Amino acid sequence: MHDILEIRPTPDRGTAAFVTRTVPVGELLGTLTGPQMPARGRYTIERDGNHYEPGVPVRYVNHSCEPNARWEGHELRVLRPLEAGDEVTFDYTETESDFAAPFLCQCGGENCRKVIGNHLA
Ligand SMILES: [Zn+2]
Repeated sequence: MHDILEIRPTPDRGTAAFVTRTVPVGELLGTLTGPQMPARGRYTIERDGNHYEPGVPVRYVNHSCEPNARWEGHELRVLRPLEAGDEVTFDYTETESDFAAPFLCQCGGENCRKVIGNHLA
């Protein structure tokens, strides 16, 4: 399953995850299996009030205000058809009720919310 995603650095958005082939809507991109952490962290993903430290490659999926994937339970699935080389993103505000490390979004989307999290540290 993991060969569907390739991890590589970007010039401006840190490390990111890209699909290696065409991917149809609904396909599974990755799962969140733990470990479960005692508190929210910089990379943790919140599900049902618990915080999970994501493994590779899910750890490197960046935020976008106009994402092409979303979490359904503990499964990251494709929201719209992807072509090989597309970066995979999800909206962090759909999983997190708060942020350990708020950040400035660089998704470039028309409806970009700019500051993700309540306050910049
Ligand atoms: Zn944005």
